[in-house]
Amino acid sequence: MTESTNIGERLRSLVNTVQRNERALQRFQQIELRLIEAEDFAAFLDILTGELVQVFELRAATLWLDDGARLAAELHAAVAQSAPASGQLRWGRTAGLDLSASAPQLGPVDMLSEDVQAALLGATPDNASAAILPLRHRSGLLGYLSLVSESSERFAEGMATDLLARFAGFVSAGLVNVAQREQLKHLGMTDSLTGLPNRRYFEMRLEEELQRAARHAVSVACLFMDLDYFKLVNDTHGHAVGDRALAAVGACIRSAVRLGETVARFGGEEFVAVLQGDRANANVVAERVRRAVQALVVRDNDGGEVPVTLSIGVAVTPGTTADKGAAARALIEAADGALYRAKRTGRNRIVFADCSEDEAAVDATPDEADSQD
Ligand code: GH3
Ligand code: MG
Ligand code: MG
Repeated sequence: MTESTNIGERLRSLVNTVQRNERALQRFQQIELRLIEAEDFAAFLDILTGELVQVFELRAATLWLDDGARLAAELHAAVAQSAPASGQLRWGRTAGLDLSASAPQLGPVDMLSEDVQAALLGATPDNASAAILPLRHRSGLLGYLSLVSESSERFAEGMATDLLARFAGFVSAGLVNVAQREQLKHLGMTDSLTGLPNRRYFEMRLEEELQRAARHAVSVACLFMDLDYFKLVNDTHGHAVGDRALAAVGACIRSAVRLGETVARFGGEEFVAVLQGDRANANVVAERVRRAVQALVVRDNDGGEVPVTLSIGVAVTPGTTADKGAAARALIEAADGALYRAKRTGRNRIVFADCSEDEAAVDATPDEADSQD
Protein backbone atom coordinates (compact mmCIF):
# COMPACT_ATOMS: atom_id res chain seq x y z
CA MET A 1 0.00 0.00 0.00
CA THR A 2 2.67 2.47 1.12
CA GLU A 3 4.82 1.38 -1.77
CA SER A 4 2.10 1.95 -4.34
CA THR A 5 1.32 5.38 -2.82
CA ASN A 6 4.99 6.23 -3.13
CA ILE A 7 5.04 5.14 -6.74
CA GLY A 8 1.86 7.15 -7.35
CA GLU A 9 3.42 10.24 -5.84
CA ARG A 10 6.62 9.82 -7.77
CA LEU A 11 4.66 9.42 -10.99
CA ARG A 12 2.62 12.54 -10.29
CA SER A 13 5.74 14.50 -9.51
CA LEU A 14 7.39 13.19 -12.66
CA VAL A 15 4.37 14.17 -14.74
CA ASN A 16 4.44 17.62 -13.15
CA THR A 17 8.11 18.04 -13.94
CA VAL A 18 7.63 16.96 -17.54
CA GLN A 19 4.70 19.33 -17.98
CA ARG A 20 6.63 22.20 -16.42
CA ASN A 21 9.59 21.55 -18.71
CA GLU A 22 7.35 21.35 -21.76
CA ARG A 23 5.77 24.69 -20.92
CA ALA A 24 9.19 26.26 -20.39
CA LEU A 25 10.46 24.76 -23.65
CA GLN A 26 7.49 26.17 -25.55
CA ARG A 27 8.05 29.61 -24.08
CA PHE A 28 11.74 29.44 -24.96
CA GLN A 29 10.94 28.35 -28.51
CA GLN A 30 8.58 31.28 -28.95
CA ILE A 31 11.39 33.68 -28.02
CA GLU A 32 14.01 31.79 -30.04
CA LEU A 33 11.97 32.10 -33.23
CA ARG A 34 11.64 35.82 -32.68
CA LEU A 35 15.39 36.16 -32.08
CA ILE A 36 16.22 34.44 -35.35
CA GLU A 37 13.90 36.82 -37.21
CA ALA A 38 15.35 39.98 -35.61
CA GLU A 39 16.27 42.41 -38.38
CA ASP A 40 18.81 44.38 -36.42
CA PHE A 41 20.43 44.73 -33.03
CA ALA A 42 17.78 47.09 -31.66
CA ALA A 43 15.04 44.56 -32.42
CA PHE A 44 17.15 41.75 -30.96
CA LEU A 45 17.66 43.70 -27.76
CA ASP A 46 13.95 44.53 -27.54
CA ILE A 47 13.07 40.85 -27.64
CA LEU A 48 15.52 39.98 -24.87
CA THR A 49 14.76 42.86 -22.56
CA GLY A 50 11.03 43.11 -23.35
CA GLU A 51 9.35 39.94 -24.57
CA LEU A 52 11.61 37.55 -22.69
CA VAL A 53 11.00 39.44 -19.45
CA GLN A 54 7.24 39.37 -20.01
CA VAL A 55 6.95 35.75 -21.06
CA PHE A 56 9.06 34.50 -18.15
CA GLU A 57 7.77 37.06 -15.65
CA LEU A 58 11.23 38.28 -14.78
CA ARG A 59 12.19 41.52 -13.11
CA ALA A 60 14.71 42.28 -15.84
CA ALA A 61 17.06 40.83 -18.40
CA THR A 62 20.36 42.54 -19.09
CA LEU A 63 22.84 41.90 -21.85
CA TRP A 64 26.46 42.51 -21.02
CA LEU A 65 28.93 42.32 -23.89
CA ASP A 66 32.68 41.98 -23.72
CA ASP A 67 34.50 44.74 -25.59
CA GLY A 68 37.53 42.46 -25.57
CA ALA A 69 35.75 39.95 -27.85
CA ARG A 70 36.28 40.91 -31.49
CA LEU A 71 32.72 40.29 -32.65
CA ALA A 72 31.24 42.22 -29.71
CA ALA A 73 33.68 45.10 -30.19
CA GLU A 74 32.81 45.26 -33.89
CA LEU A 75 29.13 45.28 -33.00
CA HIS A 76 29.78 48.06 -30.50
CA ALA A 77 31.49 50.15 -33.18
CA ALA A 78 28.75 49.42 -35.70
CA VAL A 79 25.88 50.44 -33.42
CA ALA A 80 27.68 53.24 -31.57
CA GLN A 81 25.54 55.86 -33.33
CA SER A 82 22.30 53.93 -33.49
CA ALA A 83 22.35 51.77 -30.36
CA PRO A 84 19.40 52.28 -28.12
CA ALA A 85 20.62 53.83 -24.87
CA SER A 86 19.38 51.30 -22.40
CA GLY A 87 20.30 50.24 -18.88
CA GLN A 88 19.65 46.72 -20.12
CA LEU A 89 22.65 46.83 -22.44
CA ARG A 90 26.15 47.10 -21.03
CA TRP A 91 29.64 46.86 -22.45
CA GLY A 92 32.80 46.02 -20.51
CA ARG A 93 35.66 43.60 -20.14
CA THR A 94 35.39 40.09 -18.79
CA ALA A 95 38.96 40.21 -17.56
CA GLY A 96 38.91 39.99 -13.78
CA LEU A 97 35.26 38.92 -13.51
CA ASP A 98 34.83 35.90 -11.33
CA LEU A 99 32.22 34.07 -13.42
CA SER A 100 31.85 30.77 -15.21
CA ALA A 101 32.45 31.18 -18.93
CA SER A 102 30.91 27.88 -19.89
CA ALA A 103 27.83 27.07 -17.80
CA PRO A 104 24.81 28.99 -16.52
CA GLN A 105 25.21 30.13 -12.94
CA LEU A 106 22.06 30.24 -10.78
CA GLY A 107 21.47 31.52 -7.28
CA PRO A 108 20.88 34.52 -5.04
CA VAL A 109 22.21 37.76 -6.46
CA ASP A 110 24.61 37.87 -3.52
CA MET A 111 26.53 34.96 -5.05
CA LEU A 112 28.02 37.64 -7.32
CA SER A 113 30.67 40.01 -6.05
CA GLU A 114 29.62 43.66 -5.88
CA ASP A 115 31.81 44.45 -8.87
CA VAL A 116 30.16 41.77 -10.95
CA GLN A 117 26.69 42.85 -9.84
CA ALA A 118 27.44 46.45 -10.76
CA ALA A 119 28.89 45.45 -14.13
CA LEU A 120 26.26 42.94 -15.17
CA LEU A 121 23.10 44.15 -13.48
CA GLY A 122 23.68 47.79 -12.57
CA ALA A 123 22.09 49.30 -9.50
CA THR A 124 18.95 47.24 -9.10
CA PRO A 125 17.93 46.98 -5.46
CA ASP A 126 15.04 44.48 -5.77
CA ASN A 127 16.95 41.65 -7.38
CA ALA A 128 16.75 38.53 -5.29
CA SER A 129 17.94 35.73 -7.56
CA ALA A 130 19.60 35.56 -10.93
CA ALA A 131 20.61 33.26 -13.75
CA ILE A 132 23.81 34.33 -15.49
CA LEU A 133 24.10 32.75 -18.93
CA PRO A 134 27.44 32.87 -20.73
CA LEU A 135 27.09 33.65 -24.45
CA ARG A 136 29.71 31.88 -26.46
CA HIS A 137 30.82 31.92 -30.07
CA ARG A 138 33.38 29.77 -31.86
CA SER A 139 35.94 32.44 -31.10
CA GLY A 140 35.20 32.53 -27.37
CA LEU A 141 33.05 34.30 -24.80
CA LEU A 142 30.96 37.22 -26.10
CA GLY A 143 29.34 38.25 -22.83
CA TYR A 144 26.54 37.30 -20.47
CA LEU A 145 22.77 37.43 -20.47
CA SER A 146 21.48 37.93 -16.94
CA LEU A 147 17.93 37.03 -15.96
CA VAL A 148 16.91 38.48 -12.64
CA SER A 149 13.90 37.87 -10.44
CA GLU A 150 12.44 39.45 -7.33
CA SER A 151 11.79 35.99 -5.98
CA SER A 152 14.66 34.35 -4.15
CA GLU A 153 13.34 30.91 -5.13
CA ARG A 154 13.21 31.59 -8.84
CA PHE A 155 16.84 30.76 -9.62
CA ALA A 156 18.62 28.53 -7.15
CA GLU A 157 21.88 26.66 -7.14
CA GLY A 158 21.41 23.04 -8.12
CA MET A 159 18.44 23.66 -10.41
CA ALA A 160 18.55 21.96 -13.79
CA THR A 161 20.24 24.27 -16.28
CA ASP A 162 19.98 22.32 -19.53
CA LEU A 163 17.07 24.38 -20.91
CA LEU A 164 18.85 27.60 -20.00
CA ALA A 165 22.10 26.42 -21.57
CA ARG A 166 20.24 25.49 -24.74
CA PHE A 167 18.54 28.90 -24.80
CA ALA A 168 21.91 30.64 -24.30
CA GLY A 169 23.13 28.81 -27.42
CA PHE A 170 20.26 30.32 -29.43
CA VAL A 171 20.87 33.78 -28.04
CA SER A 172 24.55 33.52 -28.98
CA ALA A 173 23.78 32.39 -32.53
CA GLY A 174 21.21 35.19 -32.91
CA LEU A 175 23.67 37.71 -31.56
CA VAL A 176 26.36 36.64 -34.04
CA ASN A 177 23.83 36.96 -36.84
CA VAL A 178 22.68 40.50 -35.96
CA ALA A 179 26.28 41.55 -35.23
CA GLN A 180 27.27 40.52 -38.75
CA ARG A 181 24.26 42.29 -40.24
CA GLU A 182 25.06 45.48 -38.33
CA GLN A 183 28.66 45.32 -39.48
CA LEU A 184 27.64 45.06 -43.12
CA LYS A 185 25.42 48.10 -42.71
CA HIS A 186 28.17 49.97 -40.90
CA LEU A 187 30.71 49.24 -43.61
CA GLY A 188 28.34 50.49 -46.32
CA MET A 189 27.90 47.01 -47.76
CA THR A 190 24.12 46.80 -47.64
CA ASP A 191 21.76 47.97 -50.35
CA SER A 192 18.96 49.93 -48.72
CA LEU A 193 16.18 49.15 -51.21
CA THR A 194 16.44 45.35 -51.01
CA GLY A 195 18.30 44.90 -47.72
CA LEU A 196 20.69 42.59 -49.61
CA PRO A 197 24.47 42.96 -49.55
CA ASN A 198 25.80 45.17 -52.34
CA ARG A 199 28.34 44.69 -55.13
CA ARG A 200 31.34 45.58 -52.96
CA TYR A 201 30.45 42.91 -50.44
CA PHE A 202 29.70 40.39 -53.17
CA GLU A 203 33.11 40.80 -54.82
CA MET A 204 34.79 40.32 -51.47
CA ARG A 205 32.73 37.21 -50.67
CA LEU A 206 33.32 35.73 -54.12
CA GLU A 207 37.08 35.96 -53.64
CA GLU A 208 36.78 34.20 -50.29
CA GLU A 209 34.59 31.51 -51.85
CA LEU A 210 37.13 30.98 -54.64
CA GLN A 211 39.93 30.63 -52.11
CA ARG A 212 37.92 28.11 -50.12
CA ALA A 213 36.95 26.21 -53.27
CA ALA A 214 40.58 26.01 -54.42
CA ARG A 215 41.64 24.68 -51.00
CA HIS A 216 39.02 21.96 -51.05
CA ALA A 217 39.21 21.32 -54.81
CA VAL A 218 35.48 21.94 -55.28
CA SER A 219 33.71 24.22 -57.72
CA VAL A 220 31.80 27.46 -57.31
CA ALA A 221 29.13 28.97 -59.55
CA CYS A 222 28.34 32.61 -60.14
CA LEU A 223 24.81 33.56 -61.20
CA PHE A 224 24.33 36.90 -62.95
CA MET A 225 20.64 37.84 -63.05
CA ASP A 226 18.99 40.76 -64.83
CA LEU A 227 15.29 41.63 -64.90
CA ASP A 228 13.73 41.45 -68.35
CA TYR A 229 12.36 44.62 -69.96
CA PHE A 230 12.49 46.36 -66.62
CA LYS A 231 12.62 49.82 -68.16
CA LEU A 232 9.12 49.06 -69.43
CA VAL A 233 7.92 48.38 -65.86
CA ASN A 234 9.15 51.82 -64.79
CA ASP A 235 7.76 53.50 -67.89
CA THR A 236 4.36 51.83 -67.54
CA HIS A 237 3.80 51.83 -63.78
CA GLY A 238 6.19 54.42 -62.43
CA HIS A 239 9.45 54.28 -60.53
CA ALA A 240 7.84 53.53 -57.16
CA VAL A 241 6.24 50.35 -58.50
CA GLY A 242 9.59 49.51 -60.10
CA ASP A 243 11.28 49.89 -56.71
CA ARG A 244 8.67 47.65 -55.09
CA ALA A 245 9.23 45.03 -57.79
CA LEU A 246 13.00 45.16 -57.24
CA ALA A 247 12.61 44.64 -53.50
CA ALA A 248 10.19 41.74 -54.08
CA VAL A 249 12.51 40.10 -56.62
CA GLY A 250 15.47 40.50 -54.22
CA ALA A 251 13.56 38.73 -51.44
CA CYS A 252 12.38 36.07 -53.89
CA ILE A 253 15.91 35.27 -55.10
CA ARG A 254 17.16 35.27 -51.51
CA SER A 255 14.60 32.68 -50.47
CA ALA A 256 15.32 30.47 -53.49
CA VAL A 257 19.02 30.18 -52.61
CA ARG A 258 20.45 28.34 -49.59
CA LEU A 259 20.92 30.60 -46.57
CA GLY A 260 24.68 30.19 -46.26
CA GLU A 261 25.19 31.30 -49.87
CA THR A 262 25.49 34.95 -50.83
CA VAL A 263 22.85 36.78 -52.86
CA ALA A 264 23.55 40.44 -53.60
CA ARG A 265 22.22 43.38 -55.59
CA PHE A 266 24.96 44.08 -58.11
CA GLY A 267 23.42 47.35 -59.21
CA GLY A 268 20.26 48.67 -60.91
CA GLU A 269 18.04 45.70 -61.80
CA GLU A 270 20.92 43.22 -61.59
CA PHE A 271 21.41 40.58 -58.92
CA VAL A 272 24.22 38.10 -58.36
CA ALA A 273 24.68 34.94 -56.33
CA VAL A 274 27.60 32.69 -55.53
CA LEU A 275 26.78 29.02 -55.08
CA GLN A 276 28.80 26.14 -53.81
CA GLY A 277 28.74 23.10 -56.06
CA ASP A 278 28.99 22.08 -59.66
CA ARG A 279 27.21 22.94 -62.87
CA ALA A 280 24.31 20.55 -62.29
CA ASN A 281 23.63 22.10 -58.89
CA ALA A 282 23.88 25.61 -60.34
CA ASN A 283 21.37 24.65 -63.01
CA VAL A 284 18.89 23.42 -60.40
CA VAL A 285 19.21 26.58 -58.31
CA ALA A 286 19.09 28.93 -61.32
CA GLU A 287 15.96 27.20 -62.59
CA ARG A 288 14.39 27.46 -59.10
CA VAL A 289 15.15 31.20 -59.06
CA ARG A 290 13.84 31.72 -62.60
CA ARG A 291 10.55 29.96 -61.83
CA ALA A 292 10.12 31.67 -58.46
CA VAL A 293 10.52 35.13 -59.99
CA GLN A 294 8.18 34.27 -62.84
CA ALA A 295 5.56 33.16 -60.30
CA LEU A 296 6.04 36.25 -58.15
CA VAL A 297 2.98 38.48 -57.89
CA VAL A 298 3.89 42.16 -57.96
CA ARG A 299 1.00 44.64 -57.97
CA ASP A 300 0.81 48.12 -59.39
CA ASN A 301 -0.96 50.94 -57.55
CA ASP A 302 -4.36 49.85 -58.89
CA GLY A 303 -3.88 46.26 -57.78
CA GLY A 304 -3.13 45.03 -61.29
CA GLU A 305 -0.47 42.36 -61.77
CA VAL A 306 2.95 43.44 -63.04
CA PRO A 307 4.62 40.47 -64.70
CA VAL A 308 8.33 40.11 -63.92
CA THR A 309 10.88 37.66 -65.26
CA LEU A 310 14.64 37.56 -65.30
CA SER A 311 17.41 36.10 -67.39
CA ILE A 312 20.34 34.30 -65.82
CA GLY A 313 23.93 33.83 -66.94
CA VAL A 314 25.92 31.18 -65.10
CA ALA A 315 29.67 30.64 -64.92
CA VAL A 316 31.22 27.75 -63.03
CA THR A 317 34.84 27.32 -61.85
CA PRO A 318 37.47 25.88 -61.99
CA GLY A 319 39.15 29.11 -62.92
CA THR A 320 42.79 28.95 -63.90
CA THR A 321 44.47 31.79 -62.10
CA ALA A 322 46.07 31.81 -58.68
CA ASP A 323 45.07 35.45 -58.23
CA LYS A 324 41.62 35.19 -56.65
CA GLY A 325 40.79 38.83 -57.32
CA ALA A 326 41.35 38.29 -61.03
CA ALA A 327 39.52 34.96 -60.88
CA ALA A 328 36.51 36.62 -59.25
CA ARG A 329 36.42 39.32 -61.92
CA ALA A 330 36.75 36.70 -64.67
CA LEU A 331 33.93 34.60 -63.23
CA ILE A 332 31.59 37.59 -62.98
CA GLU A 333 32.51 38.63 -66.53
CA ALA A 334 31.87 35.14 -67.86
CA ALA A 335 28.48 35.01 -66.12
CA ASP A 336 27.66 38.47 -67.48
CA GLY A 337 28.61 37.30 -70.98
CA ALA A 338 26.31 34.30 -70.62
CA LEU A 339 23.55 36.63 -69.42
CA TYR A 340 23.97 38.71 -72.55
CA ARG A 341 23.37 35.56 -74.61
CA ALA A 342 20.33 34.67 -72.51
CA LYS A 343 18.93 38.10 -73.36
CA ARG A 344 19.71 37.75 -77.06
CA THR A 345 18.14 34.32 -77.27
CA GLY A 346 14.77 35.19 -75.80
CA ARG A 347 15.02 36.22 -72.08
CA ASN A 348 13.42 34.48 -69.06
CA ARG A 349 16.02 31.77 -69.48
CA ILE A 350 19.34 30.42 -68.24
CA VAL A 351 22.56 30.24 -70.24
CA PHE A 352 25.87 28.76 -69.11
CA ALA A 353 29.13 30.50 -69.94
CA ASP A 354 30.98 27.41 -71.07
CA CYS A 355 28.70 26.11 -73.81
CA SER A 356 27.64 27.19 -77.24
CA GLU A 357 24.35 28.97 -77.86
CA ASP A 358 22.76 25.89 -79.41
CA GLU A 359 23.68 23.78 -76.45
CA ALA A 360 22.44 26.50 -74.14
CA ALA A 361 19.14 26.68 -75.91
CA VAL A 362 18.57 22.95 -75.40
CA ASP A 363 19.89 23.19 -71.88
CA ALA A 364 17.66 25.72 -70.33
CA THR A 365 14.70 26.57 -72.50
CA PRO A 366 11.70 27.17 -70.24
CA ASP A 367 9.12 24.43 -70.74
CA GLU A 368 5.95 25.15 -72.70
CA ALA A 369 3.73 25.64 -69.68
CA ASP A 370 6.12 28.19 -68.22
CA SER A 371 6.78 30.11 -71.35
CA GLN A 372 5.29 33.58 -71.27
CA ASP A 373 5.75 34.69 -74.82
P1 GH3 B 1 16.60 43.89 -70.69
O1 GH3 B 1 15.58 42.81 -70.73
O2 GH3 B 1 17.41 43.94 -71.91
O3 GH3 B 1 17.44 43.82 -69.47
O4 GH3 B 1 15.76 45.24 -70.64
P2 GH3 B 1 15.71 46.30 -69.49
O5 GH3 B 1 14.63 47.27 -69.81
O6 GH3 B 1 15.58 45.62 -68.18
O7 GH3 B 1 17.15 46.93 -69.56
P3 GH3 B 1 17.67 48.40 -69.53
O8 GH3 B 1 19.11 48.28 -69.18
O9 GH3 B 1 17.32 49.11 -70.79
O10 GH3 B 1 16.88 49.10 -68.36
C1 GH3 B 1 17.15 48.88 -67.03
C2 GH3 B 1 16.13 49.64 -66.25
O11 GH3 B 1 16.23 49.38 -64.83
C3 GH3 B 1 16.28 51.11 -66.41
C4 GH3 B 1 16.24 51.66 -65.04
O12 GH3 B 1 15.34 52.72 -64.96
C5 GH3 B 1 15.79 50.52 -64.18
N1 GH3 B 1 16.34 50.61 -62.85
C6 GH3 B 1 17.62 50.46 -62.46
N2 GH3 B 1 17.74 50.65 -61.14
C7 GH3 B 1 16.52 50.94 -60.66
C8 GH3 B 1 15.99 51.26 -59.37
O13 GH3 B 1 16.68 51.31 -58.36
N3 GH3 B 1 14.65 51.48 -59.27
C9 GH3 B 1 13.84 51.42 -60.35
N4 GH3 B 1 12.54 51.64 -60.20
N5 GH3 B 1 14.31 51.14 -61.59
C10 GH3 B 1 15.62 50.91 -61.74
MG1 MG C 1 20.64 45.61 -66.64
MG1 MG D 1 17.17 44.37 -67.55
